[in-house]
Amino acid sequence: MVESKSRLQIFNTLTRQKELFEPLNPPHVGMYVCGPTVYGDAHLGHARPAVIFDVIFRYLKFFGYQVRYVRNITDVGHLENDADEGEDKVEQKARLERLEPMEVAQYYSNRYHYNMDQLNVLRPSIEPLASGHIIEQQELVKKILSNGFAYEINGSVYFDVEKYSKNYPYGELSGRKLEEMIAFTRALEGKSEKRSPYDFALWKKAQPTHIMRWPSTWSEGFPGWHLECSAMGNKYLGEKFDIHGGGMDLIFPHHEAEIAQSMAAYGNQPVKYWLHNNMVTINGQKMGKSLGNFITLDEIFSGNHPQLEKAYSPMIIRFFILQAHYRSTLDFSNDALQAAEKAFKRLIEAYHQIDKIPSSEASSINIHELRQACFDGMNDDFNSSIVLANLFEAVKMINLTLTGTETLTHDDIELLKLTFNDFLFQILGLADENPSDNSNLVNELMNLLLELRQEARDRKDWATSDRIRERLLKMGIEVKDSKDGPTWKIL
Ligand code: ZN
Repeated sequence: MVESKSRLQIFNTLTRQKELFEPLNPPHVGMYVCGPTVYGDAHLGHARPAVIFDVIFRYLKFFGYQVRYVRNITDVGHLENDADEGEDKVEQKARLERLEPMEVAQYYSNRYHYNMDQLNVLRPSIEPLASGHIIEQQELVKKILSNGFAYEINGSVYFDVEKYSKNYPYGELSGRKLEEMIAFTRALEGKSEKRSPYDFALWKKAQPTHIMRWPSTWSEGFPGWHLECSAMGNKYLGEKFDIHGGGMDLIFPHHEAEIAQSMAAYGNQPVKYWLHNNMVTINGQKMGKSLGNFITLDEIFSGNHPQLEKAYSPMIIRFFILQAHYRSTLDFSNDALQAAEKAFKRLIEAYHQIDKIPSSEASSINIHELRQACFDGMNDDFNSSIVLANLFEAVKMINLTLTGTETLTHDDIELLKLTFNDFLFQILGLADENPSDNSNLVNELMNLLLELRQEARDRKDWATSDRIRERLLKMGIEVKDSKDGPTWKIL
């Protein structure tokens, strides 16, 4: 079986180190992905990691791994500019809109789920809220404090990076050096109660105006942003789990801090494989509210944005995202999206032609090779662009077999169809937005209507017969009567 062979191969190249993947606890795989901070509508920057890690989730499940996929929702503790000072992003929105912070979080979580459903992103196994795990986060702070890697000051607790870096390498994920970080953080931050500017908050004492607050041994306050992922990853996936994902912008400081927190608390690395998707740009520019190119998914799907020439459906966006390898940057532009729309349509149309391929005695094309090339693409660090390139090769093959230039046996036609079903629909999670079932449904409904009309005519009920014909004509469907019975066509 191709499948069992590939199961061993998948992770040969999961990381660039070409290690062989062995789940820590086979057949279970633990995967954690940093989810959204819920204070605004989902945009292209949310769509990319959601789609990419959805494909990885689907691919692992395809091979029979039991994947526990945890994707958190940050509803507390994420302060402006990802810093240790300033207002909470959710709370800031709540203040502006005169809502409860949890009302804001719930509203944007619902919106996020709706958009992700549109993109055909499967729901994760567990979707924990930061605000629902305050006790777990406090326990983690206590552990880090008692191990001597944090200090309390004025009711807040900070991670002691300098102390930590004497015991463990800090900055190994991002490749940053402590000296560089000192210069970087000093330039960014003003006065602070922290011992060193690169220390980060584990627990913050709430200012009197701060709404989201919980009691603790140190103060009434709230957890630092990096803490939730360490606490919830540990709770649901254990002290060490297989895969941790997120956008590249999270490598530093967020994921670097996660590693430090786990090392300081448990003395070991929390994650076996880190996977980071590259950024999204729009017409070659970074996406940003101030740049006027900040496009939400609702705006993309409706075409309602000055930078968009038209609406693009969720499957076009999903297809477009998967045309690039996740480690490359992805540039959105009208031209690129229109090209993607055409390409995706071509792929789906070719899929529907497979049933029309005449079966031959022998095959002139090797479908097994094509299928293996798709597996090889996914096995090479989940390279969906290689899979799609191979499926486009298959489109050429389909066209050549329809013209009789190439031939396929019945079994190979079935294997070709299976390859499309497995890769295009099941693994890449794309869907046919205009399923042919619809046209079957129209056929069935028309047959029923014409049958009823014939019965009316048989009993000389001309009024009903004419009504059916006229109503159909208004819908753009013409019915013609002939000796052999009625025929119809869409005008
Ligand atoms: Zn996180």
